[in-house]
Amino acid sequence: MKFTVTSRGDDISNSLKNRINQYLSDFGLKEDASEPELVITVGGDGTLLQAFHDYSERLDETAFVGIHTGHLGFYADWIPEEVEKLVTHIAKTPYHIVEYPLLEVIIKAKDKVERHLALNECTIKSIGGSLVSNVDIKGDTFEIFRGDGLCISTPSGSTAYNKALGGAILHPSLPTIQISEMASINNRVYRTIGSPLVLPQHHTCLLKPLNDVDIQVTVDHYTLEHRRITSLQCRVADEKIRFARFRPFPFWKRVKESFIRE
Ligand code: NAP
Ligand code: MN
Repeated sequence: MKFTVTSRGDDISNSLKNRINQYLSDFGLKEDASEPELVITVGGDGTLLQAFHDYSERLDETAFVGIHTGHLGFYADWIPEEVEKLVTHIAKTPYHIVEYPLLEVIIKAKDKVERHLALNECTIKSIGGSLVSNVDIKGDTFEIFRGDGLCISTPSGSTAYNKALGGAILHPSLPTIQISEMASINNRVYRTIGSPLVLPQHHTCLLKPLNDVDIQVTVDHYTLEHRRITSLQCRVADEKIRFARFRPFPFWKRVKESFIRE
C-alpha cells in the first residue's frame, strides 16, 4: 500500500511525520506523495483540509486519516501517543472506509466558470458594503439576502464556521448542505428567513449578487476574490471524501469531547 504523511509544519508535527514515515517504511509500505492510497495528516483539522485540497483530484483512490498535535479535531482524531497503534493497524489490518459528503461550488463570472469542492464550507461576502444577493433554491427565488454574507456548509463542516453562525450540527451521514446567514438586515423593508436552511441532495442553491460590489468567496481555508460574479451555485457534490477508520469514534462523541467536555 502506498502512503504519504503531511504535516502542519511545526517541529512536533514534523518529527511525528518522520517517525510515521520510518515505521511504515520498516513495515515495507511505500511512501508515494503523488499517488498515495492513504494520506496521514499530522497537525489539526486545517492540516487535513489542506491535504484534502492537495489530493482532491483523486478522491476515489485516496483515504485520509488525521492525527492531532494540538486540541482534538473533527478530522484529526488520533493523538500522538497512539501513533504506534495506528501504524500497526495501517500495516496489518484492512481498514474500514467511512465516506462524508462534500459541497460542490460553481462560480460563474463574466468570462470564466470555476468549479470547487469544499470539505467544510463556502462563504460569500462583499468587499466593502453589504452583500445583496438573490437566493434561489431549486430553481425558484426564495429571498433577497442583504447583510454580511452567507455560509454554505457540508455536514462535517457544520461544526466549524457554520456553528459560529448559529447553524445546526449535522451528522455527516446526511447528504445535505446547510445555508446560514451572516448578520442579515431584517426590517420592514428587507426580509430574510433568518433561520439556517438544510437542503437535501439535488436541491441546488443559486446565489446571484445584485449590487455592483467586489465579492470575496472562501472555500474552506482559501480565499478567492472576484471583481464581479454572475452566480455562485452550491449543491451536494457527487464526490465524497473517504476516511480510513481503524476504530469506532462516533461523531456525537467527537462533538461532545470537542465542545462540552472530555
Ligand atoms: P483556522 O483559523 O485554524 O480554523 C479555525 C478553527 O476551526 C480551528 O480551530 C480549526 O481546527 C477548526 N476547524 C476546522 N475544521 C473544523 C471542523 N470541520 N469542525 C470543527 N472545527 C474545525 O483555519 P483552518 O485550520 O485553515 O480552518 C479553516 C476553517 O476555519 C474554515 O473552513 C472555517 O470553517 C473555519 N473558520 C471559522 C470561523 C469562525 O468560527 N468564526 C471563521 C473563519 C473560518 P484546527 O486548529 O485543528 O485546525
Ligand atoms: Mn487550523
